[in-house]
Amino acid sequence: MCHCGKEGIVFLHYAEKHLCAEHFIRMFDRRFRKTVRMNKMLSKGDRVAVGLSGGKDSTVLLHSLAELRKDLPFELIAITIDEGIAGYRARTMVPAKNECERLGIEQKVFSFKELCGKSLDDLVKKESETGEGTLPCSQCGVLRRYALNKAARELKADKLAIGHNLDDMAQTLLMNIMRAEPSRIARMNEPMVKDSRFVPRIRPLMMTPEKEVAIYAMLKGISLAHVECPYAKFAFRGHVRKMLNETEERYPGTKFKVMNSFLDIEAALREKHGKGSLSICSSCGEPSSKGICRFCAIIK
Ligand code: SF4
Repeated sequence: MCHCGKEGIVFLHYAEKHLCAEHFIRMFDRRFRKTVRMNKMLSKGDRVAVGLSGGKDSTVLLHSLAELRKDLPFELIAITIDEGIAGYRARTMVPAKNECERLGIEQKVFSFKELCGKSLDDLVKKESETGEGTLPCSQCGVLRRYALNKAARELKADKLAIGHNLDDMAQTLLMNIMRAEPSRIARMNEPMVKDSRFVPRIRPLMMTPEKEVAIYAMLKGISLAHVECPYAKFAFRGHVRKMLNETEERYPGTKFKVMNSFLDIEAALREKHGKGSLSICSSCGEPSSKGICRFCAIIK
């Protein structure tokens, strides 16, 4: 039973409480706004580009930012990246387009094919022919980050909003620990070197569990594509997700604790690993920590 006396529709294990639909939505919105405010993610008049895939996280993010605009005036534009994954991306692009139309938000679509002449399917096929065996998600992640930053910069955005939720953040943190990449942990939240060619990223859902994003989307009647990327099964992230979900099940609140631990050590990590300077990729001219950026290394 919810504290208001209505029947609870959600049980939050980590807080040991039941909430009715109305109080769940209120709690969700309040946490969203608090995350934006406490992390100084937005300012009045900002032009914010939202990375919109059509999945639940980015669609809820777009919706919540559109709601926030009623109290804090800023501009919103959506960027959708078409990686070129047959049978998948075209299906998620339909709800993405519908949601933009419903909210009256301009949407721009960019594709890997336009960007580098190859779709993700082409790159995966080439990898399997040459036997190089890089996981599709590793390539996809590098290309998508590059494409989103370039598109946001071209659209003169002040901020790039990404739909990463609490689960994504906790998984990324654990993956980087398992891969012994502390410098990646240090720059998880923002680039270590300030550069006008990097559009600052914000993650207003970073304190919201994935399950709650799905419940919120359902309660708000937000239309979503229920389709999974065919390459998701190859991802290292899948193993970490399973492990983290099992731990959360036994020890509720684990995901919040992982995230809060990261926030606690973030400053010290940035201090230790933030001394590097940024150079320019000798091939494409984009910022890079090495001579050739990871994007060019993949497509070449
Ligand atoms: Fe890209 Fe992997 Fe996500 Fe598919 S599951 S869209 S390949 S990152």
